[in-house]
Amino acid sequence: MKLATCMHNSEVHLAVVQADSILLPAGCPGWPAEIDSMLQVIDDGDRYLADLHELARQSGREQWIALDSVELLSPIPRPRQNMMCLGWNYMEHVEETTRKMVEAPKLPKYPIVFTKAVSSMNGPFADIPVNPDVSDKMDWEVELGVIIGKGGQGIRREHALQHVFGYTVINDVSARDLQKRHKQFFLGKSLTGACPMGPWIVTRDEIPDPQALNLACRVNNQIKQNSNTRHQIFDTATVIETLSRSMRLEPGDIIATGTPNGVGYVRNPPEYLLPGDIVECEIESIGTIRNTIIAA
Ligand code: MG
Repeated sequence: MKLATCMHNSEVHLAVVQADSILLPAGCPGWPAEIDSMLQVIDDGDRYLADLHELARQSGREQWIALDSVELLSPIPRPRQNMMCLGWNYMEHVEETTRKMVEAPKLPKYPIVFTKAVSSMNGPFADIPVNPDVSDKMDWEVELGVIIGKGGQGIRREHALQHVFGYTVINDVSARDLQKRHKQFFLGKSLTGACPMGPWIVTRDEIPDPQALNLACRVNNQIKQNSNTRHQIFDTATVIETLSRSMRLEPGDIIATGTPNGVGYVRNPPEYLLPGDIVECEIESIGTIRNTIIAA
């Protein structure tokens, strides 16, 4: 099932997406009107996912509205805590960035983890503001996003995927100058609007193997990144095991699982996102997000 958050008639609603139609459960007879957000569904997934399936099955065509009549928002517009992000999780991305630093490629022994501020969250088709006085080195990073369903600590690898609620597309937009200047990644990864996500969450039952998904990034229709999640150094199950060894994962937590090769700053000459550019990130079996860079 594809679950989205959308703006319809100036109100934010939970939505079920099928092809080019959407269903707003809150407006359906029999659905508890107070259950109208993604986090509510994630918090009690066992109960509401089955109900949403049944609601979608039995709703007549008159209940569905055109997908293009709503504005899709980030599936979780305001996460409860920072997004957790993997750095250097694709071999060829390690190679391209270490080449840039004139070092022999060295694979990380443990996942490299940083976070992205809640305030950087942005919609799947929203504009990304760039202020050249703050950064003139904004870069793209297509990533598979993993949404935690059932929380837990000490989750074993073999059970890890059962803790996934679903998957989404993330562009981990990065200000390379700030990332370098401030030593820690946090500020350079957390510019306002620098985390478009969506266009929806695909529940885990529809993605039996998160390590077999093509993912790509295009800037102004030119392919910049084109890889597959099978090239990840640490797979989703290992990442969940590693994170949950140290901290309790909570329902609704978001993990960005790293970007493949093809980012802008290691290109010769380097390439960055400028006002007017259109950046698209696409993942097989999930969908495409498309954002325009605008001058802040
Ligand atoms: Mg990244």
